[in-house]
Amino acid sequence: MKTYRIAVLVAAAVLCVSSAHAQKPKVVILATGGTIAGAALKPTDPGYKSGAVGVDVLIDAVPQLKDIADVSGEQIASIGSQDMNDEVWLKLAKRVNELLASPDVDGIAITHGTDTLEETSYFLHLVTKSDKPVVLTGSMRPSTAMSADGPLNIYNCVAIAADPQARGRGVLVLIDDDIHSAHDVIKRHTTDVATFTSGEAGLVGVSLFGAQTWYRTPAQVHTAKSEFTIAADQATLPRVDIIYAHANMSPDLITAAAVNGAKGIVIAGVGDGNMTAPAWTELQRVAKEGVVGVRSTRTNGGITRRNIEVNDDQGGTVASMELNPSKARVLLQLALLKTSDAKKIQDYFNRY
Ligand code: ASP
Repeated sequence: MKTYRIAVLVAAAVLCVSSAHAQKPKVVILATGGTIAGAALKPTDPGYKSGAVGVDVLIDAVPQLKDIADVSGEQIASIGSQDMNDEVWLKLAKRVNELLASPDVDGIAITHGTDTLEETSYFLHLVTKSDKPVVLTGSMRPSTAMSADGPLNIYNCVAIAADPQARGRGVLVLIDDDIHSAHDVIKRHTTDVATFTSGEAGLVGVSLFGAQTWYRTPAQVHTAKSEFTIAADQATLPRVDIIYAHANMSPDLITAAAVNGAKGIVIAGVGDGNMTAPAWTELQRVAKEGVVGVRSTRTNGGITRRNIEVNDDQGGTVASMELNPSKARVLLQLALLKTSDAKKIQDYFNRY
């Protein structure tokens, strides 16, 4: 009898251990809208409505998700990402941090429009307080389209969010089998399915039907080590405008941005962050009034360094280093929550 009881106990213990092993990673999908949740009248219709489909429909469209993770969904917003704003960012960041603080959540997958994916992902890269994977995806074709790219992107995105090897690599973007760092990824084409690139920095990895190959871990400060925190009662972010430089650029938009309440201005400069002499004079003038000017580049490649053709030391301005204008805007918004000292802000741009 005694031997029989021991045998039953051992069998129960083995069952417990093996079911613990069989437990799938828990991934929460946060949906924000975008073309991935878009719907058109016909599978070949180039026109469609972004964010028309809810998170449950997105999950149900990919039944294979349940093979790789224990998935649940939440709707954060239902917008085309051209309408992305500080309010949704703050809501998203707070929810991401809340979920990741729970031992029951292993990773987060976020569906998002592709237009501003590079900005939202970088914002989360700077304010997420965890090493657990946070992965964003989108699609270039609506969910109703012929050869929709959304379902496989969602599958790969969830697989990465469930992958322990994705931990500590910062916020990632999965699109078209490619895994990008939020620090580097930019949208480079209006309609191509392969619209994202990480330029000179290169991919963090690739995913093939949910199996990842990892290439690198981004070197800059991010997520768990980042100094930027969103407080529970944070309701707004400082206004930062981007102004596009061009031949014959007038200083007027810089003046207008400052007059209308911008606390920071990013110049999408020509070449190495350059602008006309009148624009440069005005950027230095508003800097003296406390509006922080950051020089970035409209070239979509290379590093905008300090004191190359203009003297940032004298001008009181900041060089964006590796960040393109849209990402420089995000870092400047967060930096301005801490300081408006251009030297300290330059230090953030050097490290983040
Ligand atoms: N305008 C859409 C958006 O960003 C485009 C897309 O998702 O691909 O929401």
